[in-house]
Amino acid sequence: MQLEGVHHVTCITGDAPGNVRFYTDVLGLRLVKKTVNQDDPTVYHLFYADEEGSAGADITFFEYPGARRGRAGAGMVHTVTFRVASEDALAFWESRLASEGVSSSRTHARLRFEDPEGLGLELAVVSVPDEPLVARHPQIPAEVALQGFDGVRAFAADPDRSRALLETVLGFRGTGEGSWELRGELRGGLYGYDTPPAAGGGVPGAGTVHHVAWASTMEDHDAWQRRVADAGLQPTPVIDRFWFRSVYFREPNGVLFELATLGPGFGIDEDPDHLGESLILPPAFEHLRSQVEKVLTPLPDPRVAWTA
Ligand code: ZN
Repeated sequence: MQLEGVHHVTCITGDAPGNVRFYTDVLGLRLVKKTVNQDDPTVYHLFYADEEGSAGADITFFEYPGARRGRAGAGMVHTVTFRVASEDALAFWESRLASEGVSSSRTHARLRFEDPEGLGLELAVVSVPDEPLVARHPQIPAEVALQGFDGVRAFAADPDRSRALLETVLGFRGTGEGSWELRGELRGGLYGYDTPPAAGGGVPGAGTVHHVAWASTMEDHDAWQRRVADAGLQPTPVIDRFWFRSVYFREPNGVLFELATLGPGFGIDEDPDHLGESLILPPAFEHLRSQVEKVLTPLPDPRVAWTA
């Protein structure tokens, strides 16, 4: 039984229209599902990914309109890293981000920047056997496009507190001080800790990460839930998120983890050619549609302009 790297990363935005623009128009991801938070259907849940809406490329946002900016601190993910293919890709992004008014800093094989609400993002040139997970965009050649997640880094005062869970329970492999890789048969992803900033604790809010989800096969998911429970971590029961199934728990350093299934996927209720174009509600929420549509901020279809 082995987890298959990062499934998705979920964050918070206070500005859904600006968020759609940045992740689709600027970063070139595809909006693959426009839905609501299943625990609060007045709140958008937006999913951006590759062309197919694959796990491993899926960054998602809850929108709390006007939410104040947060700040990552101990027990919170502070950086989300995407893979790119080459140093040429980093040069492309350095220039593209600059033309969008986004400052970035380039170090060897990495480009760091922030989204419009201060979320730490990074592109990394890495060599892995994993399939590149790429979305189409008219201004972004496929060979320089984002290829899915490389991993996430969080702040933790004592990385060793999480070692037993990561290595013994979840199957992460240590790769250095405070750094691990979680690799399955199909994909791998990195997880690491850095020393928390001296300036106080974290503040959840716009531009912060809510949780990171690791991918499980459909068959093993129940067993993973039991395994985490047996390790004393008090996971939630398996929750049906319709496009995947989820179990949540906090790891010992406080980062909210989810284990999410590699199916059924975003195509079960939308034509794969038209993912993300209309507001999709899980069946249990469909009866709330007229109320929900009234309170949600209208969003553009990011691909409408392509054919105009
Ligand atoms: Zn999630």
